This record gives sequence, C-alpha cells and structure tokens, in this order.
Amino acid sequence: MPNGETEPSASGYDAHVIRANGHLQHERVAIIGAGVSGALCAARLAEAGFRVMLLEKAGVGNGSSSRSMAGIRAQFGVEDTVVGMLYSEWFYEHFHEMLATPADQQQPAIRQNGYLFLFDHHDAVDAAPGAAEHWERAQTLAAMQQRVGVPVELLAPDDVADRWPHLATERLIGATWCRSDGFLFPAVIYGEGLRRAEELGAQIHQRSEVIGARAEHDRIVELQTSRGPVQTDWVVNCTNAWAARVSPRLGGMQLPIAPVKRFLYHLDPSPGALAPEVFRSLPMTIYGMGRRLGAHTRPDGAHLNLAGTSQTPPEPEFSDEDQDRVPQQFDHRHGVDNFGFELLADMALYAPSLVESGGLAATTCGYYGMTPDAVPLIGFDAGLSNLVHAAGFSGHGVMHAPITALLVAKLIAGETENGQVRLPPPFDRHTLDLAAFDPSRDFLASSAESAVL
Ligand SMILES: Cc1cc2nc3c(=O)[nH]c(=O)nc-3n(C[C@H](O)[C@H](O)[C@H](O)COP(=O)(O)OP(=O)(O)OC[C@H]3O[C@@H](n4cnc5c(N)ncnc54)[C@H](O)[C@@H]3O)c2cc1C
Repeated sequence: MPNGETEPSASGYDAHVIRANGHLQHERVAIIGAGVSGALCAARLAEAGFRVMLLEKAGVGNGSSSRSMAGIRAQFGVEDTVVGMLYSEWFYEHFHEMLATPADQQQPAIRQNGYLFLFDHHDAVDAAPGAAEHWERAQTLAAMQQRVGVPVELLAPDDVADRWPHLATERLIGATWCRSDGFLFPAVIYGEGLRRAEELGAQIHQRSEVIGARAEHDRIVELQTSRGPVQTDWVVNCTNAWAARVSPRLGGMQLPIAPVKRFLYHLDPSPGALAPEVFRSLPMTIYGMGRRLGAHTRPDGAHLNLAGTSQTPPEPEFSDEDQDRVPQQFDHRHGVDNFGFELLADMALYAPSLVESGGLAATTCGYYGMTPDAVPLIGFDAGLSNLVHAAGFSGHGVMHAPITALLVAKLIAGETENGQVRLPPPFDRHTLDLAAFDPSRDFLASSAESAVL
C-alpha cells in the first residue's frame, strides 16, 4: 500500500502543508472512529501527506452518522460557527471536486432546500414563550449572518404564505430563510471520504476497538487495539458520543461530553397533501422558535423526518444496541401519549394539512454527544500533546465534518497563528478562533450556541 508519498491533491487544497512542512508527510496519524468526522479527517490528513490509519470498533457508520437527520445550516448564533458552516456548505457543494471522486461514482452529498425558521406573533394563540424577544434576536442574528456572508433573508408572513401556501401564516410575525442551507447524505460522505483516504494510502481497520494507549512523557506512542498494538505519532479521537469514555482509556483528559438520546419520527403524509415536486422541495422547517419542543421537519423521499428537543438523561455507558432502543414514551406505537404525538400537535399549529393527512410510520434514534455550551470540542488534549479531540457535536456533527477535518489537519500540521486558523480560499478573509473549540475552555465564559435543535 502507498505510504504517504502523495501527489498534491487534484483540488490543490492543503498542498502547502506538504511544501512548507516536508517532514510531516512521513508522520503517522491514528484516527479513532469511522463516522463522518473520522472519514473526512482521514481524507484531509492523507491528502496533506500523513500516513493515516483509521480504527473503528464496529463497522463504518456504526455511530450517530447513520442515524442522523443530517440538516446543514449557516443560521447559527455564534459567529465562529456561522463562518465554519459557510465553509462546510461550500465544501459539500464542491464535495466530489474536493475528494476527486471518479465521475461515474458521484452521488449528491447535499440538497440545498433551505432552512425556514418560523416565528410567532406574540398575540398568536398558544404563542411560543418570549415570542417577541425571539423575533428581535433573530433580526440581530440575521444582520450578523449577512455581514459574514450568509444569504439569509427576513420574510414577512405574506412572503411565507406566497412561497409555502400550506403553512398557517396568520400566527406568524415573520421568518428567517436561507436558501443555501439544506440536508446532507451521510452515507455518501463517510463512504466517499474513506474511499479517497484509501486511495491516498490510508488504512481502514474495522472491528478494531481502541482499548488503551502507551505514552512516553506527554505523547502517545502506541495504541492498544482489540487486534494488537499500533505505533503512531498522532491520535485523533473522532468517537463523538463515546469520546468521554475513550479519552481516559488513552490517558487523556476528562471530556465534558454527555451521550443523550434523540429521536427521529418518520411521518407519512398522504400523497395528495402536496404536489410531489412541492413536497420534494420543502425546506427544513422549524415550527415556532422558542417553543419548548422545537419541532422541525424535512422531506426524506416520500416521508417527512420530524424531530424535536426531547428531554432524556445522559447515558454515559450506552451500548451499541442502545443506539436503536426506543423507550416507550418516545415510541409512536405506544399510544398517543408520547413525544412523537406532542411534536405533531405543535407542528399542526403551523402545517395542519401535513399533519391531518398522514400518520407516524416509524421512530428511530441515536445519540447526541452534548457539551455544556453546545459547541464541539476540537483541539489538543490538556495533558497529551499529540492527542486531538474532535467530538461533542450535539445535533451538528454531519454539517461540522468538513470544518472539523480542516481544523484537525491545521492543528496537527502546526498551521495555526496566535490560536487562529485562516480558512482556505474562497474564505481566506476569515479566521477561526481555536479558543472557541478548545476542549479545556471555560464553559461558563464561552459563547453558548443557542439554536441547538
Ligand atoms: C436523531 C439525530 C438527528 C441528528 N440530526 C443532525 C442534523 O440535522 N445535522 C447534523 O449535522 N447532525 C445531526 N445529528 C448529529 C450527527 O449525526 C452527529 O453529530 C455526527 O454523526 C457525529 O459524527 P462522528 O463521526 O463525529 O461520530 P459517529 O458517527 O458517532 O462515529 C463515532 C464512531 O466511533 C466508533 N468508536 C467508538 N469507540 C471506539 C473505540 N474505542 N475504538 C474504535 N472506534 C470507536 C463508533 O463505533 C462510531 O462508529 C443528529 C444525530 C441524531 C442522533
């Protein structure tokens, strides 16, 4: 297998890493976890000339990446996240170019149907608590997002009614709409990321659990796996909801990542509810910002995926099988007194025709890796100088994966300046502050992401 004597990439990105730091091309990176984060980190690091080995305890896509609603949006509250998501959206638009996918293997990685956040008028029946404040804040955030370059628009209720006549707009004060947001195809992302990484010489080992590590001074020199030892120069922890368990096994820091279960309901509207082309082009729609349940939907084939912010306790010791275990109170098959039907009731205030015409067909689930401020941990371990954590993505890991991979590669290549990372063209006027993602940050003082979903 080739071992890192790479050609500069077809896309040219990161070639400067090889030229500026020629010695790096022989260093070994072990990535733990084969979801979207691990796959895009593997491709990026292999592209940058590192010898990559990816270790996955089960099969590719064993974690949340195959259980996701997979939305992507640049409408966030923290400016660094907005910039990061602009980059991610661009990366996914240019996905096959970035990963040099053969023409006959190119499947879409993104569908840009947009994100539509609906805001209640404070006088509306059963208005969201604090509706007026939510709308005011949305306008401030939209101004920030526009300044950064997001094509977000503020819509009046009449504009919403014109574009989406099935929505009950009489209860709205307005909406924010961004046409470049949308949904992703995670299996294409991790499948193609790993294909590209292997093409560049990376080794992908499934059924290889990382169970320990041996360190010399403050550096890991060897990982212990269920298939034997692996020598390495760098380690990247891409295990998301497992990351807080994996880090201490490696001798790393305690990570404040809580595995919390989240549910996806599959709603089956009757074929007559909307014309097929209208249904297919529906945006991710968030039904009333500030509502306790945060109900939101997006089309997925003939179904609508419906999700919300459920309250479940952290499950730090969850098993792989637990990922698909739906507790009764969240399972649509156990009477109407459960979370799925609560979500439907909220959705019915805004999209009655979609709710009345169909029913819940299935409930699925997976884990969010939640951090205290809902911003991921991407950065060096506090104690081990060659261990990078890239985990704790709450409901945002698929959309984050391109920017995650970029930051991880820059950290390992030492391409940071005063704690900042400059984005590549066409975003090179932007830098990202690594402090915002530092695993050791002060969570009381950090800027919490508000629109978590
Ligand atoms: C219901 C639901 C809806 C979501 N909606 C969205 C959304 O709309 N948009 C969005 O961007 N994100 C969403 N997410 C979140 C997103 O799916 C995750 O953040 C993302 O998939 C995390 O990817 P990852 O590669 O970091 O981790 P994962 O895909 O979880 O992969 C981690 C891997 O690590 C492996 N592993 C663990 N321990 C070890 C070990 N010791 N040795 C080797 N391997 C190990 C696991 O087997 C697993 O394959 C949603 C998640 C859920 C559950």
